Amino acid sequence: MGNYLTDNEDIQFYLRKEIDWDALVQLLEPRLPAPDGPQSIPEAVETYQQILDLIGDFSANQIQPVAAELDRSGVHYQDGRVVSHKKMDELFGQIKEMGLHGLSLPRTLGGMNCPLLLNFIAQELIARADVSVMTHFGFHGAIAMALMQYSLEEGSASFDTDGRVVKTRFDHEIAEILTGQAWGSMDITEPGAGSDMAQLQTRAVLNEEGQWLISGQKIFITSGHGKYHVVIARSETDAEHVGLKGLSLFLVPMYEERADGSRQKFVQIDRLEEKIGHHASPTCSVLFDKSPGILIGKRGEGFKYMLMLMNNARLGVGFESIGICESAYRLAQAYASQRQSMGKTINQHELIADYLDEMEVDLLGLRALAMYGAFHEEVYQRLHQLDLAKIGDESARKKRKKRQEQAAFKARKAIPLLKYLAAEKAVEMSRRCMQIHGGVGYTKDYGAEKLLRDALVAPIYEGTSQIQALMVMKDTLGWVLKKPQDFIALRARANWTALTSTSALERRLATMQLQSYSTITYLLQKTFQSRLNDIREQPMLQWLHAFRKNWDPKKDFSFALLHAERLTLILVDVLISEILFEQSERYPERRSICERYIARAHLRVKHEKENIMNFGQDLLATIHMKKKDKKADVSQVRT
Ligand SMILES: Cc1cc2nc3c(=O)[nH]c(=O)nc-3n(C[C@H](O)[C@H](O)[C@H](O)COP(=O)(O)OP(=O)(O)OC[C@H]3O[C@@H](n4cnc5c(N)ncnc54)[C@H](O)[C@@H]3O)c2cc1C
Repeated sequence: MGNYLTDNEDIQFYLRKEIDWDALVQLLEPRLPAPDGPQSIPEAVETYQQILDLIGDFSANQIQPVAAELDRSGVHYQDGRVVSHKKMDELFGQIKEMGLHGLSLPRTLGGMNCPLLLNFIAQELIARADVSVMTHFGFHGAIAMALMQYSLEEGSASFDTDGRVVKTRFDHEIAEILTGQAWGSMDITEPGAGSDMAQLQTRAVLNEEGQWLISGQKIFITSGHGKYHVVIARSETDAEHVGLKGLSLFLVPMYEERADGSRQKFVQIDRLEEKIGHHASPTCSVLFDKSPGILIGKRGEGFKYMLMLMNNARLGVGFESIGICESAYRLAQAYASQRQSMGKTINQHELIADYLDEMEVDLLGLRALAMYGAFHEEVYQRLHQLDLAKIGDESARKKRKKRQEQAAFKARKAIPLLKYLAAEKAVEMSRRCMQIHGGVGYTKDYGAEKLLRDALVAPIYEGTSQIQALMVMKDTLGWVLKKPQDFIALRARANWTALTSTSALERRLATMQLQSYSTITYLLQKTFQSRLNDIREQPMLQWLHAFRKNWDPKKDFSFALLHAERLTLILVDVLISEILFEQSERYPERRSICERYIARAHLRVKHEKENIMNFGQDLLATIHMKKKDKKADVSQVRT
């Protein structure tokens, strides 16, 4: 009888010591003792731990034993219905009985009012057992939370005097999801548009009766056999609303119950994707044909509203990927410690020992980043809710705003870095796990190949790794341009620490920080240099005009775009090292984790910096030359 919570010392460290529960509980329970909930902060925390303990037990003893069978049987499309294995249905029956779909929803809406962070940790525990179960689980509570958040944001919710939500526009839908009768999906991708959402073509048309009708095809929709489709569609087609500005968000129910109990269907499933992994999670192609939809927010705000849902979803993929990493590391470790080769177990061979050590330390680093990102995102979201509820006087709001901005800044920095690295590491670690298993890793007997198949999608969905890297690069350079004084101050502080700190570990961290700052400076110089080169041949008086006129973000940014992933690798190593260092200052028992992480990270940072400084100019010239040739070809065809 294992338990994925109690067998994990690292998660226990966060639950017992690191997470600032006081801050979270005060935001979640503005009145203690709560008339309908915990009587004190320790009682609330005790309850959270008990819930996670239950999920840890459920994951290890109910989900994991059937994961291989669910993977083998997959899901099927029969007579217009998606059919899952009966064991999958049984698991979801148990999840429903435990009330887990409402884990982070307020008690006033029928939920358990636990922190979002708890929901994310639950996702890691479940993903360690099976990612398909975790994914389908995610499309219950996350959609209910998103509907609540949308209602708060658009101003259709009401609050009590403590700022707790008491009613939303989507209470009916949320209640159905909480009781396990329904679930939702996030419908973005189309055959012609994935990463490039500006190209989305699904149309939303307002008819004469004031009803929105949605038409088009969405593909790759996880749990798309559910009732509530959150669909992004093009509602505006005038010249002022091109690209992302023309998109709006809609809630499109797949069916409506008639009085006689039968269903009137508005949305059709075209087919199920045949995937290499995630076999028990249905991925649907969905057809909308004048399907009635409810507008969420205002017309043209679809992208903004979709991003709110995606932010939590990216954190979710971060925790899911950590679940895969945990599983891969443990499986590899267990096999390597009993398999003999050349007179000893393979974990004693230097090469394999190095693999395992790196896997473990990466896993610990990733979890530190995930907890940090989720904590700050939650603080931001809860404070934002108090703003929407108009709680407190002017000075209280000002004070809150500062805290809110700090939390948002930290979360926005951490989330794309987490999505990027956790997803990439899930693939790397499950691949290593397979390698450590040798030949049997390539069979279906040990579960290593399932982990790899399941992991491979993590860098693709919820924004590919490349898209995360582009966001990181643009946000970073944008921040430095907006706040150059803050950047200079950071550099000066790191410089001083690198020279004067008495701690060798802190000096090493400061050196890494300096390397990241000088890389950012170099990327900015290259970006502006290309801009200056373009206009240098023109008369000086025309420079300002030419400077603006000739500015081509695609070309001028190209050097930074080329190196976005390398910059991301540097920044994520630095941020994880900073978080671990800060932990080690408060908890000496964490020092060795920090030392091990930085010992590897500082070499990687140096390596990526070298790459950025010494590679790319020739490649860019070739790419631009090819583009010019292509344009010339096209114009020749036209003439
Ligand atoms: C199992 C699974 C589940 C999914 N679930 C959902 C879901 O629930 N809802 C949903 O809407 N979608 C879902 N998706 C779709 C997924 O989000 C998309 O596949 C993803 O966003 C990438 O889009 P694409 O496939 O069109 O690839 P493309 O956008 O065509 O990209 C192809 C490649 O080009 C790269 N690329 C694209 N643009 C750039 C650029 N500017 N710079 C550098 N590189 C670039 C990408 O990173 C990628 O490597 C799912 C996909 C899978 C496989």
